Order: sequence, then C-alpha cells, then structure tokens
Amino acid sequence: MSGVRLELVDRGHGALLVTAPDPGRLPPTVAGPRGEQALHLDGLSPEGGLLRCIACGHPELFTQKAFPRALGLGIVVAAALLAPFTWYASLAAAALLDLVLYHTAPNIVVCYDCGSRHRGFAPRPRHPRFDREIDERLKFGRRAVMGKPMREGGTADAPEPEH
Ligand SMILES: [Zn+2]
Repeated sequence: MSGVRLELVDRGHGALLVTAPDPGRLPPTVAGPRGEQALHLDGLSPEGGLLRCIACGHPELFTQKAFPRALGLGIVVAAALLAPFTWYASLAAAALLDLVLYHTAPNIVVCYDCGSRHRGFAPRPRHPRFDREIDERLKFGRRAVMGKPMREGGTADAPEPEH
C-alpha cells in the first residue's frame, strides 16, 4: 500500500477522504463537510510522521489496526459451525487466521478529539493504543472520573497505557 489517506471527520457533519502520494503533497486546504477547511500540515514531522491531527491540530492520537471486526467475528462463527465436522481443528485454524490478519493489517492513527483517521504516514513518532483516561478527559473535562492531564507534546512517542 502506498500513499497517505486522511479520513477527515467533522462530527455530526460527515466525513471526507483526502489522499495524496506522500504526506508532503497533502493539499493545504480541502473542501470539508462544512466548506473550505485548512489542514494542519504543521502537524507533520519532517519525515512525514504525525505530531498532531492533520484535520484539527489536536496533539493526542491513538493507533489501532485497520482490522474489520465483522470479518474477525465472521471467521469465528464459521469456525464454530464447522467445529463438530473438523474435530475442532477449524477453531485452531480460525485463531491462526485471525492472528495473521491482525498482524498484517495496516495501522490507523485516530484523533481522540475529532475522530479523523490517518493511514500511511511515517511510523514515527508513534502514538500508543487507545487510552480510556485520555478519552474521558476530552469527553468530560474536569468531571472525568479517571481523566489524566495531557502529556507535553501530546501522545507522540508516549508510552503505551498500563491498563
Ligand atoms: Zn483531530
């Protein structure tokens, strides 16, 4: 897979897919769901990694696998249906298939704040997986039960959450 993809999400207003051959060739402005909108290209590292969300400029992002949950579930269901006929070997095969699919699936970097999804950008700086404490703070602010303050520089190269 080559090129970068930005799925720009404007909550409640829709989404827009922006693609470019490489991060340096993303357009400075795009026609967003609510009209012309500037991309935060200053959020790109010199290597084409993400320091911030390109859509909204927020510095907290998380990494997840682009692995369709429905596909994973479908494999498990099919394996369970076949299990009595395969002496349960289908379950082991399904587990293996899931593992392989998961590890070969591309990474997507998602913005906590606006939900925009970035794909194909440089792997550094790396953003850890989803952290509920960050999500809570952004959703509930000071009312958050387990929110934690923002790390300086956001999630770029932050350690993985412990929980
Ligand atoms: Zn964002």
